[in-house]
Amino acid sequence: MIRTPRRDGATILRAKAAVLTGKQDAAVAALAPLLGPHDPDSAPADRFLVDTALLWAAQRIRDHDAPHAAVQWCRYAHTTATTLHGWQHPTALRAARLLAQVHTARGEHLEAYDAYSAVVAALCRTDLDGACRAGAQADLAAHAAGRCSEAVAHLTAVWDSWQLDHDPTDRTGLFLLYRLTAMLAACGRREEARRRFRDAEPALPPPGTPARLGERRHAAAVLDDASRAHDLVCPHQRGARYRRRSAPAAAVLPIDRAMLLP
Ligand SMILES: [Zn+2]
Repeated sequence: MIRTPRRDGATILRAKAAVLTGKQDAAVAALAPLLGPHDPDSAPADRFLVDTALLWAAQRIRDHDAPHAAVQWCRYAHTTATTLHGWQHPTALRAARLLAQVHTARGEHLEAYDAYSAVVAALCRTDLDGACRAGAQADLAAHAAGRCSEAVAHLTAVWDSWQLDHDPTDRTGLFLLYRLTAMLAACGRREEARRRFRDAEPALPPPGTPARLGERRHAAAVLDDASRAHDLVCPHQRGARYRRRSAPAAAVLPIDRAMLLP
């Protein structure tokens, strides 16, 4: 039987310090020997190993890619944290979110959808805003997998219901709207995206301020992610390509951020 590694708190602290100073490679190098003796499929249920695995896996997401080992260690962390603490424990939720991010980075969108759905199920009775945010991420994953109509319809329903009992200046609204409008725009439904963005206005900082610029950058990043290679899977874009072939003058224009973003 493989024993758990000794609790090397100094190594963890060194790795966290390296992350804070942008030295991800140094963090990975420090943590790897702690995981090395273990197979993620059969590693013992150990809190220290869960924390090490999550910190290590988080550093392996780079430029829209991640190794399969990051998936394996996130799965280990999620299963083990659920066994040790329960499926609604913050560590189990952190592991599920990171698993979803790793799958997204690898282009495994349906797997990311499942992981975000686990977060929604865990939060829906205790943290409605958190569940809405995780649900919006699940919808983005479904959208990236080409389930566009289903994803847009679901997030539209969440947004419509969320508005009923929340202040329009609540920032969770922006989180939902950025994702809903990004999906609409990526599918080529730009007029609907523009109309939806008007709902964001009460929660946005005043125009021309640095805070407003920060929001614009945030919304642009969400839009870029939702648009990346989306024409390859999108049923709406397939229709647009067919129309372009038969009527070149009606070509679909690239997404114009200036027209869409707050
Ligand atoms: Zn689409």
